[in-house]
Amino acid sequence: MKSLTIALSIILSVISPVGAQQSNQSPLSAASSPPVTPVFERAIVTEQNVSRAKELEAGFLARSQSEAPAGHQWFEVIEASSPSVRVLVLAPHATSHMRQGKLQQADSGTGSLAEMLHQLAGVPVIATTYESPSDPNYYDDNEFKKAVADLVGRIKPAVVLDLHASHWYRPYDVDLGTMHGTSVKGQGVLIRELGERLKAEGLSNVSQDYFAADTNQTDTKWVSNLGFPAMQCEISISWLLSGEPDTDATNVNWGQRLNEHRFAQVLQALVRFIQQVDEEHKVSAEKQ
Ligand SMILES: [Zn+2]
Repeated sequence: MKSLTIALSIILSVISPVGAQQSNQSPLSAASSPPVTPVFERAIVTEQNVSRAKELEAGFLARSQSEAPAGHQWFEVIEASSPSVRVLVLAPHATSHMRQGKLQQADSGTGSLAEMLHQLAGVPVIATTYESPSDPNYYDDNEFKKAVADLVGRIKPAVVLDLHASHWYRPYDVDLGTMHGTSVKGQGVLIRELGERLKAEGLSNVSQDYFAADTNQTDTKWVSNLGFPAMQCEISISWLLSGEPDTDATNVNWGQRLNEHRFAQVLQALVRFIQQVDEEHKVSAEKQ
């Protein structure tokens, strides 16, 4: 009986701490709890961002196999929002393109990704917007490559991201084409930082040089030959938007919804990588 009394008193002391009874305040209340440093970064991509990207990709899909109207170029050049932005983004296959006399399918989802990177991180963008008469990732002698050389010469980017879409049957989430490490001009840290950002957002299977970007006249090779670091980002199409219209509410397409969720993640990974490069560049410029 004595031991039962002791046990009851221990239980009661745990349920009703003496301090709480005296102060009439829970020890777990906000007033008595010191703030805890956040453990994780807060997500930044919103539903509105993904909805806007879907609209943009529907536009790329609608124009993909149409020639540019008279007086219009078949690609767009979007200038940086601020001179402090140090990353240039290319989407040379955002629409269908002619290669060796045959029309090749677009890398669906890369145009909307590039334009959203401009909206969220302020990067300059060069992306095809209509059917390309000359594949700008295969031939050098075209207006797209000239525009890339012009913009690179003007802004002298810290790194160029060359966006492509890769078939879903390939095992990686993203393959980084680096011309066997030479396209980053000695800055291997860029490959590591981009890989870490992708992994942190859920793109855990990162490959390097499955497509090394050194066989054809790629944009990564073009930029690298101009003397600036570049990486060809072959993103599995399972992480990108298709531009296809939504199915109706009675016939939910979970595959499409998963792609939208994954698109938000790849967008966030690249926004954070760009902000990291910009910040590092700012710090190193201040030290000089
Ligand atoms: Zn491509």
